[in-house]
Amino acid sequence: MAGMEEIFGINVFNDSVMRQRLPRETYKALHKTIDDGRRLDADVASVVANAMKDWALEHGATHYTHWFQPLNSVTAEKHDAFISPLPGGAVIQEFSGKELVRGEADASSLPNGGLRSTFEARGYTAWDPTSYAFIKDHVLCIPTAYCSYGGEALDKKTPLLRSMEALNRQAVRILHLFGRMDTTRVTPTVGPEQEYFLVDKDLFDRRSDLIFAGRTLFGAKPPKGQELGDHFFGTIQTRVQAFMADLNDELWKLGVLAKTEHNETAPAQHEMAPIYAIANIACDHNQITMEMMKKVALRHNLVCLLAEKPFAGVNGSGKHNNWSMFTNTGYNLLEPGDSPHESAQFLLFLTSVIKAVDENQDLLRASVASAGNDHRLGGFEAPPAIISIFLGDELTEILEALEAGAIYNGREKTDMTIGVHMLPKFPRDTTDRNRTSPFAFTGNKFEFRSLGSSASVSDANVVLNTIVAESLRQFADELEKADDFRAALHALIVRTIHDHKRIIFNGNNYSLDWVEEARKRGLICLSSTVDALPCYTAEKNIHLFETHRVLSASELRSRRDIGLDSYAKMINIEAETMLMMARRQILPSVLRYAGRLSASCVSLKNAGASLSCGSALLSDLCGEIDRLKSGIDTLSGILNQKPAEGTPEKNAAYMHDSVLPAMAALRESADHLECMTDRTDWPFPTYDELLFSVQ
Ligand code: ADP
Ligand code: MG
Repeated sequence: MAGMEEIFGINVFNDSVMRQRLPRETYKALHKTIDDGRRLDADVASVVANAMKDWALEHGATHYTHWFQPLNSVTAEKHDAFISPLPGGAVIQEFSGKELVRGEADASSLPNGGLRSTFEARGYTAWDPTSYAFIKDHVLCIPTAYCSYGGEALDKKTPLLRSMEALNRQAVRILHLFGRMDTTRVTPTVGPEQEYFLVDKDLFDRRSDLIFAGRTLFGAKPPKGQELGDHFFGTIQTRVQAFMADLNDELWKLGVLAKTEHNETAPAQHEMAPIYAIANIACDHNQITMEMMKKVALRHNLVCLLAEKPFAGVNGSGKHNNWSMFTNTGYNLLEPGDSPHESAQFLLFLTSVIKAVDENQDLLRASVASAGNDHRLGGFEAPPAIISIFLGDELTEILEALEAGAIYNGREKTDMTIGVHMLPKFPRDTTDRNRTSPFAFTGNKFEFRSLGSSASVSDANVVLNTIVAESLRQFADELEKADDFRAALHALIVRTIHDHKRIIFNGNNYSLDWVEEARKRGLICLSSTVDALPCYTAEKNIHLFETHRVLSASELRSRRDIGLDSYAKMINIEAETMLMMARRQILPSVLRYAGRLSASCVSLKNAGASLSCGSALLSDLCGEIDRLKSGIDTLSGILNQKPAEGTPEKNAAYMHDSVLPAMAALRESADHLECMTDRTDWPFPTYDELLFSVQ
């Protein structure tokens, strides 16, 4: 096998390839576009397109596609061959600048949330030159943004790029106030840790719920789950190891910096973390990672489950979104720093995030809302639906001392006047980090831990970038007017701590006491997607997104409606799948078993033996079968009464309030029956097989 250094990035049209293959002037012009977010001119585009095509053909590509991320959290591609007819019946392989820069996608079946009517179904894709093109399965993929004819965003990339721009504008203003005139650009960085499950494909194929919903809808708890904690960081199973090695190769070829891999808490659960990258690239790479995980798993006769809660009773999967901001001069703005000046700057950026999170708990919660993720958040296995920040005791004490105007009495005594004195060094707390917090400061970055495993990281980062941009905008407005910068800075930081400290919580976020305490503090608790998504169109939020030119009111409405619509559709699919499995697999199987049981009782009796528990067994079983049947009837009745033409909000609420409880009741009797029935009669693989069969 080739070494990592030889294969890394071989399928990527990256900077070194561009430097090699583009004329100097073109390379420089393209770089200007990439570095400064400038528009690419047509001549440059056509030279780049030609070089890209030659490179792609040499690497076995036959087609190209504008690769984009529509509003359903997956990626979309439509392949076009590099083919142009010549007179006389011949063809040549061509690719123009126009084809590189802009594409037209008749994507009338992709979700748009009312932004386009079908008569104007055209959408346009536009190249994002900051994210490198790559070859996947003989197709040159050009990362693109996707908009309507009127320029409204129909995808996840457009607002992400706009939010990065918004953050850049405001952060640079602040840095100039600190005299850092060499800073011309600030970029958010993201490192998403991706959790997933692997199950054997032969078992997967026998479960309609896994096939249609990506998660189990029935299944009794196995005798062993995750209670021994022996899977987390355990020795990686041989088959899984082979999968991981293969996955790493594929990701490295595509320029994804896959770094860390390990077993996670639940049996059959694993994690992969890349080295962080600029937010939009991290987002593209995470999409590639999820796609590759699924593809590579199949080569090993495995199926990769990315659903947030594939199995009841053991942990589900999330995606920790590590986030920070870097300057073009290579400086991490959330790194505490080594001088009084740097300490002050760090504190300002730190408090800008604290303020942003406190003022926009609703948006952060909405940004991670989905039917799948509702099963995790608040389930005592993932952060609760209540947003709070973990800072660690040391940093919290520092902020408290600042607010009280006191001298910090931690390790060393230090005068804390901001901008004059150093922050006392606080140890980077990595050992006993609080894993229960949804939003944790981990030394030089924040880790937003509420994202679902299958989600695009775009939504969460659009919100993060925008809300921090807004804090920084307010800070810059105030500080730019100040006569005495240092005094104004001190006052601003102290006031921000005072106003927003309620969002800081270093305790156990899984405890019920916290729910009560959070209520007292006035923190928002939005327990389901149905409560969370409408926040997108609250007046304060429309104003926020419009101020920073990230999303317009109609774009926000479309996002809210698509989210609610997918929620309702997902639950409908799950409910229909449950009914199918219950009616056509579980019911016939348990009836067959009941028949055998009763026949056994009769033949024992005829043989003169008396089985004292026979009739009790039979009556328990029949009682549960009756409950199953009535569970089927109830769920099916409720599904039939679904409002025909409700709003997305009403439909989603109906699924949440009426359908979910009926699904839970049906599951309960099916799971009881599983435990009462001869294993050989049970119609599909059970949890013990699914969770423990991959060795
Ligand atoms: P953990 O202990 O949570 O596994 P790591 O330090 O290994 O933490 O980092 C986890 C993820 O955070 C990795 O993807 C890593 O690249 C990313 N990360 C580290 N520093 C930053 C940063 N400054 N900005 C964004 N992500 C970062
Ligand atoms: Mg982490």
